Amino acid sequence: MSLTEATGTRTNEGAGILRTTCCVVGGGPGGAVLALLLARKGVDVTLLEAHPDFDREFRGDTIHPSVMEILDELGLADGLLKLRHSKVRNFTLQTASGPFTPVNLSRLKTRFPYITLMPQTSFLEFVTGEAARYPNFRLVMGARVKELVEEGGAVRGVRYEGRDGEDHEVRSVLVVGADGRGSRVRRLAGFEPKKTSPPMDVLWFKLPREEEDPAGVVGRFGRGRIAVMLDRDDYWQAGYVIPKGTFPELRHAGVGELRRRFVELIPEFAERVGHLTEWKQVSLLSVESSRCERWYKPGLLLIGDAAHVMSPVGGVGINYAIQDAVAAANILSGPLAESQSRLTDLEVRYLARVQLRRELPTRAIQAAQSLVQRNVLETALHSDKPFEPPPIVRLLLRVPIVRDIPARMVAFGLWPSWVKKGDYAASAGSVA
Ligand SMILES: Cc1cc2nc3c(=O)[nH]c(=O)nc-3n(C[C@H](O)[C@H](O)[C@H](O)COP(=O)(O)OP(=O)(O)OC[C@H]3O[C@@H](n4cnc5c(N)ncnc54)[C@H](O)[C@@H]3O)c2cc1C
Repeated sequence: MSLTEATGTRTNEGAGILRTTCCVVGGGPGGAVLALLLARKGVDVTLLEAHPDFDREFRGDTIHPSVMEILDELGLADGLLKLRHSKVRNFTLQTASGPFTPVNLSRLKTRFPYITLMPQTSFLEFVTGEAARYPNFRLVMGARVKELVEEGGAVRGVRYEGRDGEDHEVRSVLVVGADGRGSRVRRLAGFEPKKTSPPMDVLWFKLPREEEDPAGVVGRFGRGRIAVMLDRDDYWQAGYVIPKGTFPELRHAGVGELRRRFVELIPEFAERVGHLTEWKQVSLLSVESSRCERWYKPGLLLIGDAAHVMSPVGGVGINYAIQDAVAAANILSGPLAESQSRLTDLEVRYLARVQLRRELPTRAIQAAQSLVQRNVLETALHSDKPFEPPPIVRLLLRVPIVRDIPARMVAFGLWPSWVKKGDYAASAGSVA
């Protein structure tokens, strides 16, 4: 009897109930990578994504060296790098006394000493495309999870509204909430994240991109302003950072004032910024940082932004969501395969182990982000002077053993999760 027959996976029983071993809610970087890893381990996995496609405006586009190394171990890095991308090797800020490079990845000992910038849509399509090669993987797009199915004190599945407007039910050994910063799964499970409020908000808007424009990222910092432009193939995604709570004032001054301030930092795109004519082209993003005290309960685990929302400082949210996915797959794929073959529940101690493995790195990076926010961004956002790092920081960044610490934190985070070569190799005959 095949595994599929043994578990009843992919069969609709009774009133449209789908049975699977692991139901992952949310096809962002965390959910997609977890589903891929579990699929490669032979675990029956169903990935539910609320949107009909992966094309979303509010996303980051960075793939860090640690993620590239994970993909390399899976034999997927070269395939990913065939897609259109650009590479960022350092973060350089223009300061009053000349360029300042706090993060230089090019010295790191890795095959990928750079941040790969790629529209997240391409990354997610690539990862789910790879997962789709396994017959035990199922992706349901346009599946918006509305409720948890709970029985006997444990989560046993979810109910979602499908693209057909009908309600559907999935029953599983484990539900993983990977549904991002506004996680519905988290709320339904009754977990309340503890929030800290970084001192900034971001205005987010699109600008036209022309073929001769530089690839990658354009970022500037100074005179109380921070502006960034991300290359998304056919347009620029622009972000303009403002001190928290100051949007009403800027809105009152008019969209022309936003254009003026943005162009002061990035004058070479002055003509392009002219396309910004109405406030309805601009979204206000409230920057948030939070962490749940508990990431699990019987039958349910939270990963990525659902468990901890990262501040955008250092752009590490995607990296951390993927690291959570790797830790979860490393710890849970064996017990899930066991539950699948013996039709038993998953012991909660395995879920606790995932939080234990990932909580410290998360706390540490959030503390580092908060330090940068308080000591650099807050000062910069409230000062009329061009940004100037403290002399001690410049000095420390010249010391060989210290200078690569910021780059290592950005590239790998603290205590990163790895996959071992061959650990997730496709078993013969399992690839469709
Ligand atoms: C504007 C902006 C820019 C950012 N820039 C960067 C950056 O440059 N680098 C970086 O590392 N991080 C960046 N981040 C943070 C980063 O996007 C997140 O940390 C990361 O995406 C978290 O991944 P995730 O898989 O946990 O969740 P998400 O990427 O948020 O994915 C969650 C998925 O769940 C789906 N979903 C939600 N609700 C449901 C539901 N009820 N049912 C089914 N599916 C559901 C969503 O549609 C989504 O696809 C940025 C964030 C924002 C808002």
